[in-house]
Parts: sequence; structure tokens; C-alpha cells
Amino acid sequence: MSDTSEKKESNGCTEFKKCLEILHLMLDNEATDDQEQYLNSHIEACMYCFEQYEVEKQIRELLKVKLANQTVPSGLAQSIRTKVFQSA
Ligand SMILES: [Zn+2]
Repeated sequence: MSDTSEKKESNGCTEFKKCLEILHLMLDNEATDDQEQYLNSHIEACMYCFEQYEVEKQIRELLKVKLANQTVPSGLAQSIRTKVFQSA
């Protein structure tokens, strides 16, 4: 159907900025129903944002588990965060 299967740096999605914003709100449980609905239907069609969503979700899950077990060095959460922001 299309020849755009190759990955691009940050323009894999024209709505990416908006999606990322909602994505973070959702993970913080601060998104409105409208925003949640928008992103949920968007990631069904947009593999790029879907991947971002999965990565962010996994990082949060990982942090939650680590923090719960209290085995994480205090600098690790910070360094993951920094990485995420750098790649965004
Ligand atoms: Zn998208």
C-alpha cells in the first residue's frame, strides 16, 4: 500500500507532539476522557506512537517495580528520565 515502512527520526507521525503530550498525561492519570479516547484510537492506526506508548509504559512499570523493591540506586530513575527526555 505504501512505501513508508522505513523508520524516520521524529516525523513518523504528524501528530506526534500532541500524542506524546497526551501519552504522558495518560501515564500520569491526568488525561481527560477525550484525550484518552483520541490516543487509544490513534495508536491503533499509528505504529510510531504505539511504540512510544509501549516504551513509556514499560519504563514506568519498571520504575514502579524497582521502587517497590527499593533495589534501585537513587540515580537510576534520574538517568532513565534523562534518556527518555533526550530521545523525545
Ligand atoms: Zn502517531
